[in-house]
Amino acid sequence: MANIFEKKLNDFMAKVIAKNPSEIEFHQAVHEVVESLIPFIEEHPQYSEAKILERMVEPERVILFRVPWADDKGEVHINKGFRIEMNSAIGPYKGGLRFHPTVNLGILKFLAFEQVFKNSLTTLPMGGGKGGSDFDPKGKSDHEVMRFCQSFMTELSRHIGPNTDVPAGDIGVGGREIGFMFGQYKRLRNEFTGVLTGKGIEWGGSLIRPEATGYGATYFAEEMLKTRGDSLKGKIVAVSGSGNVAQYATEKVTQFGGKVVTLSDSNGYIYDPEGIGPDKLAWVMDLKNVRRGRISEYTEKFKGSSYVEGERPWGVKCDVAMPCATQNEVNEEEAKILVKNGCFVISEGANMPSTPEAVEVFLHNKILYGPGKAANAGGVATSGLEMSQNSLRLSWTREEVDARLHQIMINIHETARKYGTQKDGFINYVNGANIGGFVKVADAMLAQGLV
Ligand code: NDP
Repeated sequence: MANIFEKKLNDFMAKVIAKNPSEIEFHQAVHEVVESLIPFIEEHPQYSEAKILERMVEPERVILFRVPWADDKGEVHINKGFRIEMNSAIGPYKGGLRFHPTVNLGILKFLAFEQVFKNSLTTLPMGGGKGGSDFDPKGKSDHEVMRFCQSFMTELSRHIGPNTDVPAGDIGVGGREIGFMFGQYKRLRNEFTGVLTGKGIEWGGSLIRPEATGYGATYFAEEMLKTRGDSLKGKIVAVSGSGNVAQYATEKVTQFGGKVVTLSDSNGYIYDPEGIGPDKLAWVMDLKNVRRGRISEYTEKFKGSSYVEGERPWGVKCDVAMPCATQNEVNEEEAKILVKNGCFVISEGANMPSTPEAVEVFLHNKILYGPGKAANAGGVATSGLEMSQNSLRLSWTREEVDARLHQIMINIHETARKYGTQKDGFINYVNGANIGGFVKVADAMLAQGLV
């Protein structure tokens, strides 16, 4: 049987690769999902007869556009703009915008594909999409970022809307960028609607949205630990990244009694054996969100900490690892080191941060491995809650949104556990998240006919 599945997987992937050449991250994301789904679909032939998987790997629409803008000296720059509208079977397209020089079609298609399953897992009515630009906000003035965002939105505004496609933030797109884009959309359309999420609290945003991804990944880690009668209390935690997700994962882990000992950026990582408690985290937030500095500056401020240039934090001894920076930031060798050092929980705040070989190491060693599409779904779930509040024209309290987020993460864990528990009792959260996310979308596609 295993050989038949393998042949089906290889045949399927050969077609995906031929149709989408050189989009390696997209191939990687599809491979992981299809590997989980083939045995399941074999038992449910209605999905293969309707070619549901073949349809799901083809975006409903891909929008590519030119983004011209002028810098403070008047020099003209041209960037690429993208929006991938992947799947709208269960709701309007929903997913973030990424501004980073590495952005290309393959990366955004991988993110949009993952988003379809993730959004389904949240239980909220959201389809999947993703977009962005190869623009690099680093080193740009606020005025330059504003001009870029206005130019980007001038084109994107034709394609999105509160019932059509609702973008949010991602790498390089935080409150500042969402503000500039929302302002331009409102000006062009003469409409005040919930067309973007991650908005400021005074103009339609939701409390807890900035915290949601990091908090959610921490709630997911806690749920995984509960299955072994354990908790985050007293655990040593290695976090990568120092942006939005990393910051709020650090805050919530600390509130649960764990000790975060690392943070990183694309230049290197810091190690603080005393733990990055609330005061130190407040300093990091100011460094990253206001002064927009480098994480290496941490060691000048906090004695006893150290900085390692050009490396990632996975060689540090820890019980729990939370990759919160970017895709493919944990490789096979690093996964082996983590496991050897006693790490037995991985909760992914980032999207696809572990390579397929690293995932194999985690599953082989039967540790608690929470893949991003389940563990980091709290961000988009709270974006969904922001959309609900916009539709109701009401704002919920911090406690109310956090309670809903927490319950959604518990539900996602339960779905992944339901579909992922093996005969030996081990919970394969990869299979659980992929199958759990698939069923709802696939059934909606069946019901809606060949569209
Ligand atoms: P931010 O831009 O706020 O922070 C990103 C962090 O990751 C920064 O510390 C950045 O360092 C680091 N980083 C980015 N690219 C690289 C790279 N190529 N190598 C090493 N480090 C890198 O983004 P977010 O915190 O919002 O996003 C982080 C991850 O979480 C992404 O994978 C994103 O897709 C995922 N995610 C985010 C959600 C959200 O709600 N924001 C929701 C779900 C998932 P530097 O400053 O040097 O670039």
